[in-house]
Amino acid sequence: MTAELIDGKKIAARIKEDLKKEAEELKAKGIHPVLAAVLVGEDPASKKYIASKEKTCEAIGINSIGYKLPKSASQKEIIELVDTLNADSRVNGILVQLPLPKGLNEKEIMSRISPDKDVDGIGPHALGRLVLDDPGFIPCTPHGVMKMIEAYNITPYGKHAVIVGRSVIVGKPLALLLLRKNATVTMCHSKTSNLKEECLRADILCVAVGKAEMITGDMVKEGAVVIDIGVNVTSDGKLVGDVDFDTAKERAAYITPVPGGAGPMTIAMLMYNTVLAAKMRCS
Ligand code: NDP
Repeated sequence: MTAELIDGKKIAARIKEDLKKEAEELKAKGIHPVLAAVLVGEDPASKKYIASKEKTCEAIGINSIGYKLPKSASQKEIIELVDTLNADSRVNGILVQLPLPKGLNEKEIMSRISPDKDVDGIGPHALGRLVLDDPGFIPCTPHGVMKMIEAYNITPYGKHAVIVGRSVIVGKPLALLLLRKNATVTMCHSKTSNLKEECLRADILCVAVGKAEMITGDMVKEGAVVIDIGVNVTSDGKLVGDVDFDTAKERAAYITPVPGGAGPMTIAMLMYNTVLAAKMRCS
């Protein structure tokens, strides 16, 4: 079997087209969606992500305002900036690019973002609403995964979903979203003793670890849906996921590529949340 490719780039493009129209409608009502993007330090990957998010904002008609702080910025300075942005009525969404330089308390900073501007959806308020199945900002990467699955008419109902990786920004919220769609969910992590066996039980296998090509074809059930969220740069500069694409695609029914899968969907869902924040302002 050779898997069908889940084209995240194409789905993201459709979502962004719809958002562009929504942003135009909002502007006609005098509401201009504004995203404040905070970058601390010089991490090359973070700088690339911020640049890409700013470019997408521009394409959709969201006004993005960049705030660049040096690596030496203190906890207090960042919190003061977040407070200023919270109080600025022109700003709909606040994004603090992670990871922050070592020594800063990320949790405190993310918790400081006003719940109605937390467009990354990873503050305690947004995550609490997710647990409660209440409407609110859904974390962008897991939301993007669910949109990809939906776009290919894959129904999690009654399926066994296995998620490798239990981070707050990907694994845990993705488990809640799959549960919401009535999948039976298994969470794996670095202390899981029988990872291969667990993965082989997955109808839907989602991987967010950060280890290049660690999930090989022999860990994939015949006919599974494989969602690769990992982003890794190999020693020869190639971008690869956490799944060994070439062997996994021989067993899977559907598979996401890296790049071109979860990455573009994450940015699209950030834009979705920013437009939603602007709409909430006028409702
Ligand atoms: P974290 O480092 O926060 O979490 C990694 C998770 O993987 C942890 O739960 C860890 O377990 C688990 N893990 C580590 N080693 C193993 C192992 N050998 N077997 C099983 N589980 C293991 O990572 P993130 O969730 O932030 O990111 C994961 C990947 O996804 C990265 O490559 C990141 O770049 C990418 N990513 C991509 C995005 C996109 O837009 N495409 C967005 C966000 C992330 P434990 O909890 O026990 O330590």
